Amino acid sequence: MPTKRVRAAIVGGGIGGLSVANALLLRGIDVTVFEQVDTLREVGTGVSIFPNGRRQLERMGLKEALAQVGAKVGDGSEYYRMDGTVVGPILTTDSSGWNGVYGMHRADLSRVLANALPGPTIQTAHRCVGFEQNAHVAQVKFANGMTAEADVVIGADGIQSVLQKYVVQPSLPEYSGSRAYRGLLPSAKLPEWRKEAHQTWMGDGKHFMVYPVRSGQLLNYVGFVPTTDETVESWSALGDRDELAASFEGWDPRVVGLLEKVDTCFWWGLYDRQPLTSWTNRRLALLGDAAHAMLPHLGQGANQAIEDGVALAVFLEGQTSGEIVDALRRYEAFRRERTDVVQAEARKNGLRYDSRYKSLEERDKEIASSAKFRKWLYDYDVEKAAMSYLSKV
Ligand SMILES: Cc1cc2nc3c(=O)[nH]c(=O)nc-3n(C[C@H](O)[C@H](O)[C@H](O)COP(=O)(O)OP(=O)(O)OC[C@H]3O[C@@H](n4cnc5c(N)ncnc54)[C@H](O)[C@@H]3O)c2cc1C
Repeated sequence: MPTKRVRAAIVGGGIGGLSVANALLLRGIDVTVFEQVDTLREVGTGVSIFPNGRRQLERMGLKEALAQVGAKVGDGSEYYRMDGTVVGPILTTDSSGWNGVYGMHRADLSRVLANALPGPTIQTAHRCVGFEQNAHVAQVKFANGMTAEADVVIGADGIQSVLQKYVVQPSLPEYSGSRAYRGLLPSAKLPEWRKEAHQTWMGDGKHFMVYPVRSGQLLNYVGFVPTTDETVESWSALGDRDELAASFEGWDPRVVGLLEKVDTCFWWGLYDRQPLTSWTNRRLALLGDAAHAMLPHLGQGANQAIEDGVALAVFLEGQTSGEIVDALRRYEAFRRERTDVVQAEARKNGLRYDSRYKSLEERDKEIASSAKFRKWLYDYDVEKAAMSYLSKV
């Protein structure tokens, strides 16, 4: 008798939710994504997809679609001190020399992931408000009065996750003391700008980075600036471009010149969490920021969410409904070691970028030697690692 296909309900249609939906479908699991907003949308800023994330997306059959909208990041990528003194190159390859970094508009990445899913997979206007489970099935409740039953529920609902409390006592997000001003500029406004470069300037408790997105048509900039006036209720808002420009007054003329072209920007308060004590509760698993919210100073939040999704798919493939609890336990045991390291390193890297060091020479040395850690990040193939882990348990 053929076994019944396992059904997964994914709560959250961000990069993590859409990635795991693709990964699960490819491994024979039925998926529905429930997203709270009426129309799937992503904010108008960039996201770097590094070799560890891109390799998995390409393996999902998305290579061509990504190539159409990704911006190649490579030549001329460098770290600088705030006055423009070169500190060293930024690594944009894995150890094999594969230049697997794309700068992407978040909306483009979201569209690529959503378009690869069959029509009715994504249910918008479904805000999850509750969760229940028994030995045989899990149920998700939505604010619109609907409910959904599934064999497994995946909480991909971001740093303010509603599902987290059904797994573990939630810890409050921790404010980093820093705010990120982000926005996009048409590349045509800066014809002299290095087209493929990811460039980062560091100093004075702040840092500023620029990289191309949308096939190089746009430049994504982010200015990280210290503030003390955050509230959890106002995490992102329209930013004040004058405030942003004033924060980088006197920096390398290239930074000042770029900021003169900015009309509007947004800001985000930067939060992370201490690693959670658990990510799974029987038929419920957390993924992405809901499981391991991290600071953006390694550009790994979305990339780690993609890795989570692939790992989950490997562990759930071929399992019956009755085997899900064990599969989720394996997922958690397998993933935590890596994401704990990345979360902690993202914090440390923020201190380097913000030049919170007694000796800048020492900081510069650490930046130069960080390529080793980056290789550890970029060389990783989560699918292979998960399959090898499975073969040993
Ligand atoms: C300044 C900055 C720069 C960054 N740069 C990078 C980068 O270059 N590379 C990188 O890899 N990462 C980067 N990140 C991190 C990255 O954006 C996040 O880690 C990633 O988006 C997390 O994806 P997610 O799907 O887990 O969560 P989210 O993107 O937050 O998605 C969660 C989704 O769930 C939905 N949702 C929430 N609650 C509910 C509910 N109750 N019911 C239904 N739906 C719900 C939300 O509407 C949303 O669509 C950056 C972050 C910041 C702040």
